[in-house]
Amino acid sequence: MSSVKVALRIRPLSAKERLNCNRKCVSVLSNGNTPQIILHPDRKFTFDYIFDDDSSQKEVYDTCVKPLLHNFIDGFNATILAYGQTGSGKTYSMGTGLENEMNFENQGIIPRAIYELFSILKKKNSLEYKYKLSVTYLELYNEDLNDLLNPKIKQISNNNINPSQGGVNANTVTLQIREDANGIINWYGVSEVEIESPEDLLSLLEKGSLIRSTGSTDMNMSSSRSHAIFSINLKQEILQEEDNLKNENNNEINNDDIITNDKEYNDENKNNITMNENNIENNNKKDDDKKEKWICLSSKFHFVDLAGSERLKRTGAIGERVKEGITINQGLFALGNVINALTDESHPDRHVPYRDSKLTRLLQDSLGGNSKTLMLSCISCCELDYNESLNTLRYANRAR
Ligand code: ADP
Ligand code: MG
Repeated sequence: MSSVKVALRIRPLSAKERLNCNRKCVSVLSNGNTPQIILHPDRKFTFDYIFDDDSSQKEVYDTCVKPLLHNFIDGFNATILAYGQTGSGKTYSMGTGLENEMNFENQGIIPRAIYELFSILKKKNSLEYKYKLSVTYLELYNEDLNDLLNPKIKQISNNNINPSQGGVNANTVTLQIREDANGIINWYGVSEVEIESPEDLLSLLEKGSLIRSTGSTDMNMSSSRSHAIFSINLKQEILQEEDNLKNENNNEINNDDIITNDKEYNDENKNNITMNENNIENNNKKDDDKKEKWICLSSKFHFVDLAGSERLKRTGAIGERVKEGITINQGLFALGNVINALTDESHPDRHVPYRDSKLTRLLQDSLGGNSKTLMLSCISCCELDYNESLNTLRYANRAR
């Protein structure tokens, strides 16, 4: 079973499109187990999930995000990637748009996940359980990283580093991606802000999104040309008694089933350990003879609002624009190849080309392996967007 799922979401006709009497060029066939979309007249594509243009935010969340949230709390890394042309509903679905945050029904994936996360963690909180949450928010633009929680910090592009000038500007820090011996990807130089409430988290999300959209003179420009990666880091500590760790009773923790991403824990314990919610609740009794031990779990949840997938028109793209277009397509291209390799069931040992772009490198330990990935592909139903919709369907179908 692949840990990558591909969903398709269709945005409805906009008021303007309706006024212009533009027609829809897609319809959904939902008979059978696997939903299909028809791009009129005759192109058919199948996805794990399809959300038609009348689907609600709640439906999308409940169907494909909730399970990932539970995996995340169980100690797995999770990633949601919103893919599609500009104007297809990526930001609306993610819930990072600044326009519709106040209306509960229109709330997107991230705010919903955040409220549910806090409500679950608060319920678990006890003397035998501790957790810590922090967030980072990065923008990847032209293969350069910007820290949206600390806009003064910009990555120095390689070509700007001039050793003969000695030292670096006080306002620039090198943001770096490094992989440790356990395959865990660490980001260095990135502001990681601890948070204690959903409101803390949402205000950081809003602040960062505002910086992203105002970084450029054209409001839509920056956000359609850059990838935004909002990440929640969860560290959990669970108190266990030594004896119970060795106990083979099913109600206790079983070393073989357990997986953790925490390096320090892995280093001192050769076994991979994960926890089982029921066990923790069942293990409250104390026995003076037994040693107590804290098990650490850490997991990351990445929410990625990808750059617009539209092709740069060959004419009219000159200089810097061409560079931007090519780089962005490189990131999306590399991502497509990574997902394609991960979902290729006939070649389970296939090389996964994570190193081909910064985007896939940043997300390396959260795509594939034990992690869970959702590719949320967005298209417009409008006939005017036929070509871009076809491109998205092809890309997403390849990923499936
Ligand atoms: P993108 O981020 O892909 O460029 P947006 O999320 O900004 O696209 O969506 C473009 C416009 O369409 C926005 O005004 C948004 O509110 C609207 N929209 C997108 N998806 C939906 C949907 N499923 N239902 C209603 N409005 C939507
Ligand atoms: Mg957007």
